[in-house]
Amino acid sequence: MREKLKALAELQNVDLEVASLRKAADVHPRQIAELERELGVARSAIEAERARVSDMEKQKAQLEQNITDEKDKVKKWETRLSEQRSTREYSALAREIDIAKKANLTMAEELTELTKQLGGAREAIKSKEADYATKQQGLSGRMTELRGKLGEAESQVKGLEGRRAEVASSVDATLLRRYEVVRKKKLPAMVGVVAGTCQGCNMNVPPQLYNQLRTGLGTDICPSCNRIIYAVEALQETPAASK
Ligand SMILES: [Zn+2]
Repeated sequence: MREKLKALAELQNVDLEVASLRKAADVHPRQIAELERELGVARSAIEAERARVSDMEKQKAQLEQNITDEKDKVKKWETRLSEQRSTREYSALAREIDIAKKANLTMAEELTELTKQLGGAREAIKSKEADYATKQQGLSGRMTELRGKLGEAESQVKGLEGRRAEVASSVDATLLRRYEVVRKKKLPAMVGVVAGTCQGCNMNVPPQLYNQLRTGLGTDICPSCNRIIYAVEALQETPAASK
């Protein structure tokens, strides 16, 4: 009985090791996704800044066009001004020219301001691009590292799975079947009973069952949590237990 128990305990150790490796490795894909998300956010910020610059460029081109149009208009009007015979018409047109020139001055000031802003925004993009490149370089190094760790964990799991098959072959078939059923729901699937208490659910097992486990050094099922249970004395290397 004790040998059966030991074989299953060994199998469970392999399973626990696989589970802990998987759990530890599980953090890597999440970290990689997080780094990719960070890069995406930085990229979007640059795209938004570029869109803003492109808008400003359009505004600037429009403003320049307006200024040119207004200047042409003023030129035409000035030509017409010299042809005016009536004083009333002359002064009316002269006033129009004056207004148009003032408007042009305002637009020219706007253009200067816009050009300045545009220069600033272009500089900002350049520095954001540089930051992004630095960040990307750092993150891609980190990603390579994480992918390496992930691959390493996967190959360790694969190795353990090979070992598992070997260990499983020496476990009693009935016990193995039961273990596999419980393992799908609970790991550890096999737990010790210490001083009458199941270590899986912390409930007391009936005293008669506990006595059977201690004397028979075999296994049974915990009535509370359905795990495979054994008396911890059965796996202890004491002369009394190994008899
Ligand atoms: Zn239990």
